Amino acid sequence: MQHLNPCELEIDLFCKGLRVDPDSAGSVKLARRTRAGLGSGLELRLPGSFKDIWVNVPVIESFAKQSPYTLYADNGGFLIKNTELSQTYPVGIESEPEWYSKPTLSGRLMSKVGSMQGTYLGIYIGPVCRYWKHDERENCHFCTTGLNEEQDESWKKTVTDVVETCVAARKESGITFVHFNSGYQEGRDLRLARPFLDAVKQKTGLLVGLQLAPVDDLTQYDGLIDSGVDHFSFCFEFMSDFAFSKFCPGKARTLGQSAFFRAMEYTSSKLGKGRVSGEIIAGVEPIEETMKAIDRITDCGAFPTICVFRPLEGSDMAVYPSPFYEEMREVFKYMIDRLIAKRIPIGIAPNIEVSLVVQPTDALYLADPDINSLLYRAYNKALTSLVKPFFNRRLKRGDRRMEQLAY
Ligand code: SF4
Repeated sequence: MQHLNPCELEIDLFCKGLRVDPDSAGSVKLARRTRAGLGSGLELRLPGSFKDIWVNVPVIESFAKQSPYTLYADNGGFLIKNTELSQTYPVGIESEPEWYSKPTLSGRLMSKVGSMQGTYLGIYIGPVCRYWKHDERENCHFCTTGLNEEQDESWKKTVTDVVETCVAARKESGITFVHFNSGYQEGRDLRLARPFLDAVKQKTGLLVGLQLAPVDDLTQYDGLIDSGVDHFSFCFEFMSDFAFSKFCPGKARTLGQSAFFRAMEYTSSKLGKGRVSGEIIAGVEPIEETMKAIDRITDCGAFPTICVFRPLEGSDMAVYPSPFYEEMREVFKYMIDRLIAKRIPIGIAPNIEVSLVVQPTDALYLADPDINSLLYRAYNKALTSLVKPFFNRRLKRGDRRMEQLAY
């Protein structure tokens, strides 16, 4: 069988996980990188011909223990072998940043303030998601956020803790993008995010994305856009009413799927094509539903961020099977075909690689090598060159402002 291309390998690793050779385990440190309880694993970089791919590979879940893939330390580097097919792939492992072990001025460990998820900084704000706190839990069944004791403490992080951590991550890890999320906060979500957004924009000039529960009063988004939000994402997770109600009981009772669609469509119309994303999980509902979700997202000019379902240890869905590679490949091929057909720009902002999803730019490896995909890549390249000086100026101004800070 032919070697997989980097995106196919990423998908297969999401579906099958990875074992670590016991003799090499000493050289591998599991990344402390989680996001909204959706994933924890080993952060790998898969080299590719036109771009490398960042992937957070499942290693602790039971399905990963049956994986045909094993990671080995090799000559100062790493490789993974598919023992069933006698195939070998070189990989990189991102070492944990030094700033993780530094305290903020208030004494909070920076790794407790935010964590790297690929090449960007993810920060959870607010108290633990309220779906975990009702007498009768209404959490999303795939999620483990509420099991994480530290998450319950996270609301104590201050605006200054967050700015200091952003500064350290910019200086030492070269981040360009900070992503805030907060689970569900009973309608206070946008208000909670505001001081963090304003401080990070004003003091660091970094790009900022918000992933918050949708609100009914859409004009609230106008204020955030005026404050400089660069990106919104809306997690409606599943397309079918059945899957949405069954696996996201809290979201179904309090918000309804339509609230996510309205907010996604409104913000996308305000920010423009390629600035908003709809986040979904593939591998639980039939893939025809996932493809309908991709249509819904791309119809409004947004782009899909699709997680391959991971039956996390401790979650309500821990015993569900991990998805099939062939089906997931079909989903991501469909995603890139729709993005190409609708000319939605991807990968324009600098240095944003996301390890927990198959990014649209990763899926370019799946596109047919025809004139449409060539033109689409040229279109994205031209847009990137066009906006590069703008981003560079903004980031340089931000760097100068950060130099003035006392930390
Ligand atoms: S909204 Fe759902 S996925 Fe997000 S933190 Fe809450 S329970 Fe988890």
